[in-house]
Amino acid sequence: MPRRLLPYLMSTIGLWILWTQMTGSALAIEKQPTAFIHANLIPMTTATVLFDHTVVVEGKQITVVGPSNDTEIPDNANVINCRNAFLMPGLSDMHMHLRYSWISDAWPVSPLKLYIANGVTTIRCFGPGGKTGKYGLNWQKDIDAGRLVGPSILTCGPMLGGHFKKDPEQIVIKQKYQRFDFIKIYSYVTKEEYHTILATAKKLNIYTAGHIPFQVGLDGVLAEGMDEIAHIEEFLWEFSDLDRQRYFENKEAWMAYAVQTTFDRFAPFLELNPQEKEQKLEVLVATILDKLKDRQIPVCTTLVVDDLIEQKLFYPEQFLRKPENRFLPAGYLDRFRKGKEKHQMQFKGGEVFAPFKYMLDKKLLVGLKKINIPLLLSTDAGTGRMGIVPGFSIHDELRILVENGFTPYEAIAAGTIVASGIVKRMNGQDDFGTIVPGKRADLILLQKNPLEDVANVRKISGVMAAGQWYDQKAIAEMLGN
Ligand SMILES: [Zn+2]
Repeated sequence: MPRRLLPYLMSTIGLWILWTQMTGSALAIEKQPTAFIHANLIPMTTATVLFDHTVVVEGKQITVVGPSNDTEIPDNANVINCRNAFLMPGLSDMHMHLRYSWISDAWPVSPLKLYIANGVTTIRCFGPGGKTGKYGLNWQKDIDAGRLVGPSILTCGPMLGGHFKKDPEQIVIKQKYQRFDFIKIYSYVTKEEYHTILATAKKLNIYTAGHIPFQVGLDGVLAEGMDEIAHIEEFLWEFSDLDRQRYFENKEAWMAYAVQTTFDRFAPFLELNPQEKEQKLEVLVATILDKLKDRQIPVCTTLVVDDLIEQKLFYPEQFLRKPENRFLPAGYLDRFRKGKEKHQMQFKGGEVFAPFKYMLDKKLLVGLKKINIPLLLSTDAGTGRMGIVPGFSIHDELRILVENGFTPYEAIAAGTIVASGIVKRMNGQDDFGTIVPGKRADLILLQKNPLEDVANVRKISGVMAAGQWYDQKAIAEMLGN
């Protein structure tokens, strides 16, 4: 080697070493482990609390879980003392809707932050607004890279709503190619279109979920093998005398026909005394359960929708007093005060059916649970059109499940271990919902035991989403407090 090259080489090597040291140390900061010590751990693998446990997180993953006196903490760890506090997995909202307006001024605080602030670390979009819905996939990339604060996002593409301008087969192929997580099907798809969509999705091995289309009915849904039903309230149409051959060019007209036919069917029920009503409903619910038993088809709960409809129609002052409503998009509460909000319009003149529908949906919930249908914690929040506040509403959904016979453990399971098991059916990954090594580091630190009272899930001291820690101060800042 020529002598004059040596100093040049030495300095190059020197620079290289310096560079690796610099980037190495940058990575080390990013990868600094976190150790939650002395926690009352609720791993959600069983309905128990493991006292005085340590959880070590490295990168985005939980790496070690064990008794505090027997678990080593990495030297450089950020240690969070959890004495007297409870550590549970982050929750998921398994049916909600993304809107591009989330990252604009339309919302006082981005729902991505509202979710984090409420301990929701996974969201699954059942129909993004907009033409392509690709922003959901991009947000997931940005969140993953630390450029955006938010929960982990699973999303379908734009929903397949019927009245297609393009062959639905091509739409399914395109959405699979675009790497959406599943196909969402809506009420107005015809029987033939439904068959095409399901057959294509099966061929491409992409998960299908959605409404029970008016022309198809539950029997058709089960025969074609749709993977999941989008709401408990979808079963309502099964009790109606819908003419399933009918087709409407106009979606509003179709929905109006379905609603009117269902109202007509149930009008005589309203005359019954509570006991008779109860008995008749039990018989109806039994027909659904009969079809679903041994099926293991998951159903999203979304009962907070019914809860809010009742509040909005009969207790508007109470609804307006909800402190979290300040996070709804500008304009929503104005529409509400003018009586022009979605459900105010939909139930106009038929207000009495709202409590009846809620009663029926609660009976379905209880029945579905009894036959071990996987029930998924979900709120239908996100569109900004129904007064459902993203994140905050998950706590109402938990409350409703417990009011209807779930233990707090079972209610939380619907948004953790059960939810992750269903995501495994979608994409093969069962990577959240429990506190065990290998799972994504999605955690909520609580002041009180949520297994004693599910309302304690609201008492949040900190949230970790994919390894990123938000303490109480960070959460207050997110909410603008
Ligand atoms: Zn929805």
